[in-house]
Amino acid sequence: MTRTAARGGAASTPMIRQYLDIKSRHPDSLLFFRVGDFYELFFEDAEEGSRLLGLTLTARNNGGKRDVPLAGVPVKAVNEYVSRLLELGCRVAICEQLEDPAEAQGLVQRDVVEIITPGTVLEDKLLVAQRNNYVVAIAGEAPFGLAIVDLSTGEFELRELAGATDLRDELGRLEPAEVLISEEMDPPAGPWHLTPRPGWRFDASLGEERLREWFGVTSSIGFGLHVDRDTRLLAASGALLGYLEEVRPAGLDHLRPPRVDRAGRVMFLDDMTRRNLELVEPLRPGEGASLLTLLDRTRTPMGARLLRRRLLRPLVDADEITARLDAVQELVERPDDREHIRGALRPIRDLERLAARVSTGRVGPRELLGLGLSLDALPGLAAALGPLEAARLAELRSGFDALEDVAARVAEAIDPETPRALKDGGVIRAGFSAELDELRSLRTNAVDVIAGMQIRERERTGIDTLKIGFNKVFGYYLEVTKSKLDRVPEEWTRRQTLTNAERYLTPELKEWEGRVLGAEDEVAGLEARLFQSVRDAVAAEVGRVQAAAARIAEIDVLACLAEVAVAEDYVRPDLTDDIVFDVEEGRHPVVETSVARDMFIPNDMRLDQDCRTMIITGPNMAGKSTVLRQAGLIALMAHIGSFVPARRARIGVCDRVFTRVGASDNLAAGLSTFMVEMTETATILHGATERSLVLLDEIGRGTSTYDGLSIAWAVTERLHELGARTVFATHYHELVGLAESLERGAAFNVAVRETGRDIAFLYRLEPGGSDRSYGVHVARLAGLPADVVGRAARILQVLESGPWGAGGRGAALAEGGIGQLSLFDAADSPGEEGAADVAAARELLDRLARLDVDRLTPLEALNTLAEWKAFGDA
Ligand code: ADP
Ligand code: MG
Repeated sequence: MTRTAARGGAASTPMIRQYLDIKSRHPDSLLFFRVGDFYELFFEDAEEGSRLLGLTLTARNNGGKRDVPLAGVPVKAVNEYVSRLLELGCRVAICEQLEDPAEAQGLVQRDVVEIITPGTVLEDKLLVAQRNNYVVAIAGEAPFGLAIVDLSTGEFELRELAGATDLRDELGRLEPAEVLISEEMDPPAGPWHLTPRPGWRFDASLGEERLREWFGVTSSIGFGLHVDRDTRLLAASGALLGYLEEVRPAGLDHLRPPRVDRAGRVMFLDDMTRRNLELVEPLRPGEGASLLTLLDRTRTPMGARLLRRRLLRPLVDADEITARLDAVQELVERPDDREHIRGALRPIRDLERLAARVSTGRVGPRELLGLGLSLDALPGLAAALGPLEAARLAELRSGFDALEDVAARVAEAIDPETPRALKDGGVIRAGFSAELDELRSLRTNAVDVIAGMQIRERERTGIDTLKIGFNKVFGYYLEVTKSKLDRVPEEWTRRQTLTNAERYLTPELKEWEGRVLGAEDEVAGLEARLFQSVRDAVAAEVGRVQAAAARIAEIDVLACLAEVAVAEDYVRPDLTDDIVFDVEEGRHPVVETSVARDMFIPNDMRLDQDCRTMIITGPNMAGKSTVLRQAGLIALMAHIGSFVPARRARIGVCDRVFTRVGASDNLAAGLSTFMVEMTETATILHGATERSLVLLDEIGRGTSTYDGLSIAWAVTERLHELGARTVFATHYHELVGLAESLERGAAFNVAVRETGRDIAFLYRLEPGGSDRSYGVHVARLAGLPADVVGRAARILQVLESGPWGAGGRGAALAEGGIGQLSLFDAADSPGEEGAADVAAARELLDRLARLDVDRLTPLEALNTLAEWKAFGDA
């Protein structure tokens, strides 16, 4: 900025000096400087604007100084440009003219009225209705304090996180648009916009003071905050509130008091679990559906946002979950009432965001009308709740504030046909203000007089084509076609010549024009004042609107879950405190909707005191991952209070649900992903308890067979010791032996049926291990040539009975029926064929051992075989 300052100085024009002064207070933002119908960018901002937005760069005269680079954006199009800048991670400071330029004495007063940052936008067009838009401040260094605000809805939450991993997971869950950190902190990596702030802004006692001032309370104890213990939460609050004050100097009355979210009430979902279970988005964007897409049948944006939040924060208290389930059950069992409720929800618009817009003075007439019409639906909603008895529904109904007074206020004042913009007029309803009605009739009368003039003058002059018209430059005029010019009276003054006509004025016409325009100005001024007073009246009730919106969101979510339960044939899970996960005929909620109707095979799964560890084996594509994820999804759905896809389910409350997927099942494999996989496995071993549900899919697969096998073995043993309910899906059928050796372990397999040389997938979970990997069968299905498959089958036979198989290497060889495979013999007992042959055989044997059949593509298999053949022939 020093460069900018240096270019300014005494000889600059007054406006450029004003610009430099304002800019010096907003060095980190692109300054949109209002000049008439444009926002102008100067100096470096102009250059940046032209680079980022493709604006034309011009120059502006600067008095005695060198010309100033300039780029402009029309006021009308400002939203579009701002949204592009936000996407690029820029901040935009909007500097307005604070007085009417026509009335200003000298230089127009200007100042910044708001700073728009990715985390603090309020413009509807820049927000997604179904998702919160968070700005988050992080204080401390393990444990961390998080202050979380969605300015577009007014929500404010505080949360403490134990360490860096939890912090990363939490940020992954929130997906904030903007993150505030102290300049001294290592920035957490992620797609958000990072806003470093000076360290002193993260001061706890300053934070406490700010909280008290902002919400007008004498102590922060009312929020459940403890001055000495909650220093990080206070620090984060202070930093965030300070920032909000800065970007919205006009104030933010709609920000709700903070809700402190102590650990223990909700289940902490880590990043990997959220992603692997595809809770809110599919693993590969654009492919497949998430659980949220399936469940979201909400009717309002508030409901949609709440459902998303709930899905990412399942409950851990059986009573609380049961209360939700009771409500859902009643709505399931009373379809008529459910229909009434959902019908009443339909016309309700985004009350949370409208409330925020009312309170920040950004709401237009049509939106205010929309808010009023939404409120009109509330008495109907309250009535629809009437017959319901579930405790949670009764709570939501009792003291339900249907805001009839606010709705009436809007309805009596705002014209049902109001235009979008105030300046277009016709915003206030007739009959609302006697004064306005009077002014409007004065205007109408004056217009009528002018219209009367047209008839009168036609008769008087005999010009039958005489017209009275209006344009913005000349106002009202009399228009006479060229052919009738000889009849024009002398006292008319000519004003404008057209090709076929002349236009005239008369003093009488001017006088009435003055009356029309005067009345119009007064009408516009009065309409603006009346509109503002209605808006302020509604703004004064914004807390009530927000409270109603919160209830509506919850009613919407409960009715939505009931709707899905009926439509998808779900059952109420039985929640208990026992350590059990007992599901009869469970289904994968998303996969079942993607296979043909009734083609999904349900499965039972039972984990309890006697069986804590379940090892599922089976060939590739048998359905291991599906049955594993289905367990996780059923568990989580139950914990948010949803019915589940099963015939019966008894689920002991879990403190955590962990899901890990081995690296090679996880997009592109590589050494580093194996490292990632192990790190994640380590977190499970540290975090899991007897109350956890742990789902491991092909862990250990990212490395060579023996490594992977050993790691998988050891991890499973440890989880078994911990007593966590564990399901391990693996294609290592060697692990079957482990399951059998564990005291409370059991082996299962996803059944396949061998039909001659082929296999058919049955997708049915059965007790016992699968003893073969069926990789060769899969190779056949994949189209590997028959002779290659046949050969592979024979090699496999030897391997399974050789040094790698369970049966001991002697067996197959003793039978001696392997034909060409005698090279194993050769390698084992060098005979008269010579040392070179033996070395070659050993080498081949070695390569064979290193080969991971399950990871080969058919083409790789072919190439490998060709290579070996060449090697053997040589
Ligand atoms: P694995 O993990 O054993 O390799 P997956 O679980 O990925 O197998 O399943 C492979 C495919 O089989 C799935 O994409 C799905 O189309 C189908 N599938 C899996 N389970 C079932 C089932 N229970 N009923 C019907 N189809 C299933
Ligand atoms: Mg799998």
